[in-house]
Amino acid sequence: MRRRREKITDPITVTHPGKVKFWNYDLNDGRRPEDFHYGDDAVVAWVCPINPMHRWKQAVSNFLKRQTDCMYCARKPVRESLRLSTKYPELAREWHPTLNDHRSPDTILARDRRSAYWDVRGE
Ligand SMILES: [Zn+2]
Repeated sequence: MRRRREKITDPITVTHPGKVKFWNYDLNDGRRPEDFHYGDDAVVAWVCPINPMHRWKQAVSNFLKRQTDCMYCARKPVRESLRLSTKYPELAREWHPTLNDHRSPDTILARDRRSAYWDVRGE
């Protein structure tokens, strides 16, 4: 049998250094990535290093197995002709810049049925 270089008891900071940047230090009650190894089923909080609005909870073992890192960033972009910003540019200008989580007129469909916040102070 081939010997693995990493032992299962090694912390994820050793076995998966690339994933450690997703650790959410604010929401894990002081727990740190070096306290976990890659077989751990404990559900912890993660945050996207690119966009801090991308947050989720997932078992350590599942996240480390996953090919993609941030599930929000990995989403396919909405085709330009179907975007809210393309179909209704006037409306898109009133999109609230901070209250809509990670959504923006460039990332949602014009026919999106979810509610959204609008900024109409310019009226
Ligand atoms: Zn992301």
